[in-house]
Amino acid sequence: MTTTVAFIGLGHMGGPMAANLVAAGHRVLGHDLVEGCLAKAVASGVEAAGSAAEAAAVADVVITMLPAGRHVLSLYGREGLLAAARPGTLFVDCSTIDVADSRAAHAAAEAAGHRYLDAPVSGGVVGAEAGTLTFMAGGEEAAFARAEPLLSVMGRKAVHCGGAGAGQAAKICNNMILGVSMIAVSEAFVLAESLGLSDQALYDVASAASGQCWALTVNCPVPGPVPASPANRDYRPGFAAPLMAKDLALAANALRSGGIDAQLGLKAAELYEQFAEGAGAEQDFSGIVRAIRAASSK
Ligand code: NAD
Repeated sequence: MTTTVAFIGLGHMGGPMAANLVAAGHRVLGHDLVEGCLAKAVASGVEAAGSAAEAAAVADVVITMLPAGRHVLSLYGREGLLAAARPGTLFVDCSTIDVADSRAAHAAAEAAGHRYLDAPVSGGVVGAEAGTLTFMAGGEEAAFARAEPLLSVMGRKAVHCGGAGAGQAAKICNNMILGVSMIAVSEAFVLAESLGLSDQALYDVASAASGQCWALTVNCPVPGPVPASPANRDYRPGFAAPLMAKDLALAANALRSGGIDAQLGLKAAELYEQFAEGAGAEQDFSGIVRAIRAASSK
């Protein structure tokens, strides 16, 4: 069945996601504030809408893929998206945003007579282009069921995690594990180097022992043991450090407002903020191993 989709935010992720919906036969009306992003989307078959509200007015489903919660809330409210849409329109927010903002967006959409699903993704630009993203969704079962045919075009897996905000919660919890484990793996390599142990020897042991994790065996922060990891191409992303810093800041907000004693999560947020603002601005998040090495005394 052809669905008319309004797609707002056609950047690194939204652009290829919208293109995949077009390729699957859906009608996609797109909007982005940046002319170049819109032009690229139009070249892939997206129809340019005069404004986000104009696209939402004729859509069955409104997908947003925006930088942060304030963009989503402003579009929904001040910029008139919820008011412009027909009653019962399904709003799917795929951006990674604060759990509290996501719940506020959910409440606003429902109050305006619409359905809402938070559905952040993992898989990066490569996954967006290949249509192999993983979606983690929060909202009512009926909203998830309605979104699923579109999610299955843009991704390979969609997990319904629970009610409003549950998708965002799953995303930040997962990325907090990832941020902390990347720092732990990086610290272990720097310690091993100072003890005269080769990177390969540590890898061979830890990858077959209890230190095994994704940060080690897929995104290994030192060059050599895992040839496809970003460390082998001078830490070109991959998953850029500023995006990890953003996700950890969202986790830190949630930790503080929940009064959770998660000292490593908060420390990881602090370390990634420093790294992303400095040497890591354009590096993969595994480049933090170099910051740890540089800060260590000989
Ligand atoms: P991006 O900055 O490339 O794209 C966001 C787009 O939204 C921009 O083109 C911007 O012009 C547009 N935009 C902002 N406000 C708008 C408005 N009011 N109306 C219309 N367009 C507007 O960012 P991205 O890398 O595509 O990431 C989008 C979201 O996905 C973020 O929340 C990010 O955290 C998340 N995410 C990104 C990745 C990744 O690898 N890039 C991976 C997983 C999740």
